[in-house]
Amino acid sequence: MTKVIQVERDLSVLDEAAKCLAGGGLVAFPTETVYGLGASALNEAAVAGIFVAKGRPQDNPLIVHISDKKMLDQVVSSVPPAAEKLMDAFWPGPLTIILEKSENIPISVTAGLQTVGVRMPSHPVALALIEKSGVPVAAPSANLSGCPSTTRASHVIHDLTGRVDYIVDGGACSVGLESTVLDMTGEVPQILRPGGVSLEELQAVLGEVTYEPALKDSREVPKSPGMKYRHYAPKGELYLVEPRYAESLAEKLAFFSGQGKKTGVLRCSDNQYEADFVIDCGKTAEAYASALFDALRSMDDLGAEVMFAELPQDEGGIVPALMNRMLKASGGQVLEENLTTRIERL
Ligand code: AMP
Ligand code: MG
Repeated sequence: MTKVIQVERDLSVLDEAAKCLAGGGLVAFPTETVYGLGASALNEAAVAGIFVAKGRPQDNPLIVHISDKKMLDQVVSSVPPAAEKLMDAFWPGPLTIILEKSENIPISVTAGLQTVGVRMPSHPVALALIEKSGVPVAAPSANLSGCPSTTRASHVIHDLTGRVDYIVDGGACSVGLESTVLDMTGEVPQILRPGGVSLEELQAVLGEVTYEPALKDSREVPKSPGMKYRHYAPKGELYLVEPRYAESLAEKLAFFSGQGKKTGVLRCSDNQYEADFVIDCGKTAEAYASALFDALRSMDDLGAEVMFAELPQDEGGIVPALMNRMLKASGGQVLEENLTTRIERL
């Protein structure tokens, strides 16, 4: 049986879920990025339960969440000075730092790797739950593997009811996309997954930072095991499109409607479309990022069979993360060939 807990101001409602977490249970909870599905990172059996509940491939490591830097000793073997600088600058917040793992962390958490991803989320409910449980919490996104991540409790209830012990409802997630994953174990810090903290922000603190090659070239094997899987996919077909190709999109919509398909558009411009469903995702990349997964899930609920998502028009900041999720969700399908230049720009 899955119990849903509503949290508003009184954080003592988290006590039973925290106890469950400490005792080896599974608890889904809100963070500022997306909802997480948590288990004690020190408990091998509990961690195994996460993979079963999500249907997650065994070779995809989990991020360990902490509420206090004092917990780091249990998670990593040491904290190099550059990582310390990152923690001071971006924690609590959407940055996962890859470091050498401590012996306490079972290899099921890291999928056999000697490194571990660690992050301190900024959401007050996440911080309170981890602190009350007293253990570092391994938590991937709280969705069924392959589906769009969850940014509202209703999404988690849809995917994980009957599969977890508790779902903590703390409202909608503000960032809406997952954390930036930054590998600090090599010579030059490398972004393995773009996310809520941008390349420019990291460079301002560290100097040289690069994107790992596989993010730009799909022929490279990704260093972050999770990046190789189909991800975030809605049930219908999804194509990406530049807003300036509105005319060509109008033709496609007419074509698919003519075939009797239900059509949908995720919009971030003032363009008008003749589609069965149009969801406004905001005009800024930040607004789009926080709306994307909810919009994809809404399209599924509405029964959209062919969808088109307008690409964001700004640059930098959250845009590379948004483009990365949109590319994965669409399986790389774009409406116009010449879009490729923009997509490889990262
Ligand atoms: P999720 O938990 O769904 O947000 O996915 C976590 C992401 O972090 C996946 O892309 C993982 O492959 C990546 N990740 C976690 N730990 C490591 C690690 N030790 N080395 C490389 N990537 C990692
Ligand atoms: Mg995920």
